[in-house]
Amino acid sequence: ADNFGIQEALKTLGVDEVNDGTFSGKEHWASGDPITSVSPVNAEEIASVKTTTREDYEKAIGQAQEAFQYWRSLPAPQRGEIVRQFGNKLREYKAPLGKLVSYEMGKSYQEGLGEVQEMIDICDFAVGLSRQLYGLTIKSERPMHAMQEQWHPLGIVGIISAFNFPVAVWAWNTAVALVCGDVTVWKPSEKTPLTGIASQNILADVLRDNDMPEGISTLVTGDYTVGEMMTKDNRVPLVSATGSIRMGKIVGQTVASRLGKTILELGGNNAIIVTPEADLNMTLMGAVFGAVGTAGQRCTSTRRLIVHEDIYDKVKESLVSAYKQIKIGNPLDENNHVGPVIDKDAVNNYLKALDKAKEEGGNIIVEGGVLEGEGFESGCYVKPAIVEAENHFEIVQEETFAPILYLIKYKGNVDDALALQNGVKQGLSSAIMSNNMRETQRFLSEAGSDCGIANVNIGTSGAEIGGAFGGEKETGGGRESGSDAWKAYMRRQTNTINYGSELPLAQGIKFDI
Ligand code: NAD
Repeated sequence: ADNFGIQEALKTLGVDEVNDGTFSGKEHWASGDPITSVSPVNAEEIASVKTTTREDYEKAIGQAQEAFQYWRSLPAPQRGEIVRQFGNKLREYKAPLGKLVSYEMGKSYQEGLGEVQEMIDICDFAVGLSRQLYGLTIKSERPMHAMQEQWHPLGIVGIISAFNFPVAVWAWNTAVALVCGDVTVWKPSEKTPLTGIASQNILADVLRDNDMPEGISTLVTGDYTVGEMMTKDNRVPLVSATGSIRMGKIVGQTVASRLGKTILELGGNNAIIVTPEADLNMTLMGAVFGAVGTAGQRCTSTRRLIVHEDIYDKVKESLVSAYKQIKIGNPLDENNHVGPVIDKDAVNNYLKALDKAKEEGGNIIVEGGVLEGEGFESGCYVKPAIVEAENHFEIVQEETFAPILYLIKYKGNVDDALALQNGVKQGLSSAIMSNNMRETQRFLSEAGSDCGIANVNIGTSGAEIGGAFGGEKETGGGRESGSDAWKAYMRRQTNTINYGSELPLAQGIKFDI
């Protein structure tokens, strides 16, 4: 049976039963072992993708290098025009692509559509950016001299992405890199290769319509070994990698050993601080969506709720009753709030984390478990759980990519809460719920949250594309998307121009010959 029109969506998106996993525009190729994409929704084998071999990769990189020679010289606003068309094409394909994201990855259809909307938004941002790649002019200390700085493209940007935002992360990188004059080579997660095929198909259409050369945006597919081809490759000056901290440590070191550049977007361990002056209705909304949305598989998911002792029991009670309302099931059915986690490994990690939390002295107040029976045959549907815990527990210090929320009590003032919040190795997203300006400003100050994202009276989860996105500490330090994140995709060049007829040296140095 056609599950909520998914066959139709695949057809519209040009995803076949067997797909070549290496392509840019017209020509498709790939000779590696196929990977079959299995939906966590119903365990159905959706389609397969032939992966990229070393030989296939060499061809892809050769094309990309050649395309860069052309692309970098195209005026930036003309590159922006291509990205504008890409954004429009995404608007056309929003529904089927959102559906495939939901079906292949397991997030709700609404969240799938939201992810495609992020792709559209970053295209709009990048179009404007294409006329704003500004450098400074600087006053020279020498007469008849001028100084300026220019931003030039880097070359090939390698993009390695995670399963949980299978399409948006690519678009954040690609839309910006393309207007900057770079070309991109993308390796999506081996767990979500079909959304990769579908997304590249959409951009390939635009590139073909504009008679662009092959190699401006290229898809390669496979597991980490294909990612490694890029991290070890001197022809790839920048690698933008999104995924686990474990992966980031390897990728960071590999690229650094050849003195290449990285943008690392790694795991989080995000907390909401709830002070006695919080609006409890807003807190509840923010915390529940943050903890159970995308089945707890967002890098910005709320993992820890750090609640003041005076309101602790009240917050606990309302959370427990809110969790009773959560509907778990097929994410394509809009009546459900929570879909499956990505695969059985994720289910095991979830179960192990709950066991470990109990072992360490945690008190489970909303029981977890794996759902069975009709509609849950894939074995990937788990119940969102809440555990009363302490911040120093080993399991609380880790990111478990599943819907488990740790409830942590704090005593004292906002500094005591901040010590707990910052007392983990990760530094992605954070939030405070409070109507007290002294507390919220303290939270935002240099003595406050140590995260890349710090929110007031909104949860930790989700972000707008206008801001720079990323985190500190083991989250990797990279920034993507809005603000001036584009600078990471370019090289800065400082120019001094002498328009006089003397050659004075800097710092007044005399050198007579
Ligand atoms: P993962 O680390 O298992 O895989 C991510 C990608 O890295 C995949 O494409 C994989 O093939 C590749 N990879 C793995 N090892 C590699 C290596 N040695 N060399 C080159 N490539 C390699 O992560 P996942 O399970 O797909 O995603 C979940 C993780 O991603 C979570 O930790 C989550 O917090 C993180 N994440 C972070 C952000 C962010 O912006 N900070 C966004 C989304 C996800």
